[in-house]
Amino acid sequence: MMLISGGKVLRSGTMRFEAADLVIDGDTIVDVVSPGSVAAEGKLVVDARDRLVIPGLVNGHNHAQTNLAKGLADRWTLEALLNHAPWTGGRRTLEEKYLSAAIGACEMLKKGCTATYDMFAEFPLPTVEGVNAVAQAYADVGIRAAVAPMMADRSFYEAIPGLADALPEPLRTQALAIRYAPGAQSVDVCRELARGWRFGSDRIRLALGPTIPHHCSDAFLVACRDLGREFDIGFQMHVAESKMQAVVAMKKYGRTLVAHLDELSLLKPGFCVAHGVWLDDDDRARLAANGCSVSHNPGSNMKLASGLADARAMLGAGVNLALGTDGAGSSDNLNMFEAMRLASFVSRVHDRDCSLWLSTQEVLRAATEGGAQALGFGGLIGRLDRGCKADVVLLDLAAPHYVPLNDPVNQVVHCEDGTGVHTVVVGGRVLLEAGKFTAFDFDALRAQAARAVERLMEVNAESRALCEKLEPYVNQYCTGLAATPYHVAGFCQH
Ligand SMILES: [Zn+2]
Repeated sequence: MMLISGGKVLRSGTMRFEAADLVIDGDTIVDVVSPGSVAAEGKLVVDARDRLVIPGLVNGHNHAQTNLAKGLADRWTLEALLNHAPWTGGRRTLEEKYLSAAIGACEMLKKGCTATYDMFAEFPLPTVEGVNAVAQAYADVGIRAAVAPMMADRSFYEAIPGLADALPEPLRTQALAIRYAPGAQSVDVCRELARGWRFGSDRIRLALGPTIPHHCSDAFLVACRDLGREFDIGFQMHVAESKMQAVVAMKKYGRTLVAHLDELSLLKPGFCVAHGVWLDDDDRARLAANGCSVSHNPGSNMKLASGLADARAMLGAGVNLALGTDGAGSSDNLNMFEAMRLASFVSRVHDRDCSLWLSTQEVLRAATEGGAQALGFGGLIGRLDRGCKADVVLLDLAAPHYVPLNDPVNQVVHCEDGTGVHTVVVGGRVLLEAGKFTAFDFDALRAQAARAVERLMEVNAESRALCEKLEPYVNQYCTGLAATPYHVAGFCQH
């Protein structure tokens, strides 16, 4: 048994800190008691004096394959990022897939995040070995995850109406040669994964990640829907991330992306929208009515100039709100404290009354309980209550940003940058102590990462050259499409 004693513990009901001790048996919190009321004898004691004690943060949206690509891009829109995906994420060995996931898992753990929704991408289709390698990386580092193989049956160049026609030859032929596998093959791989899943449902869950609605044929989306129902597994999709996507939906479907997904009966509890920047009131009402979640990823949205999602409107509509970093290709760090700070700040830049800004308590709830629900771990993690899994982060009150300690919740959301993370416990195991990994050799990954990147740059050189030639055409065409007026009711996006 373990006793985390002497700390100020975030209580889920009030979202306030109270002096309390946590009693842990195995991987579960079995009691939350007043300080000193349970004897330490026979227990592993984690000294939480001078610490804030919060649930492990939950990252609502991420991509394991991008950790080897962090920092590669500067001035890329989402569309430029998708254009460059063949070389930034392509031709990975199985070992590199594991390595990329492990690097991200370590970064999250070190920054107080103990669970993540991971849309892991392979091209031209997911593989059983690849998805298992990523799940194994999370298992080895020790954090929880929902791993959703990211899939499509149309390439970026096929998915955007008119884009291929706007490319000159031979670029058009070369771009159209980048083809995904037929959707039925991807579904078969996911079925095989679901049948043989060996990581448990309370540690690492399998989910489905058909990436972007119009990158998937309706038949493929329906097949994914049916597979999700058959195995009762969650979904994550990028929905209405950029304005261009919202415009394409009207062109292609004559309705919004969310309305289209609703027509196909994809929306359900366990369905998580990544981003949701360009949602209207009707979209949010549909998501709420179907018990869906949205992972709000303000850092990625700002870096890629996707827009500013209206988290207040989501909460107001009754949508479950999670927060995420997005992948290291677009964020470029995996710091959930930064995601919280940005979510708070972004909610203020809309021209509206300050009572409608997100409060720090709402932000902290989204990064914990909201994320837990989005990942399919609702009730298990995201709270420090009796019966919950013991995923616990201790923040050091000696860190400069807590001196003086005026309001712990405000300071966790607005001051903490991850440097105050002292101890991280996941499932009752201490995985980080005094900021150092206790159970995983992160340093060993550094040399592997350097070697992997050297190899990948070489094998992807030709692909990179093609993507660089395509970029100006993609930018010009997509910027033109995005210039179409698109008014989102209830919110001023231009
Ligand atoms: Zn994403």
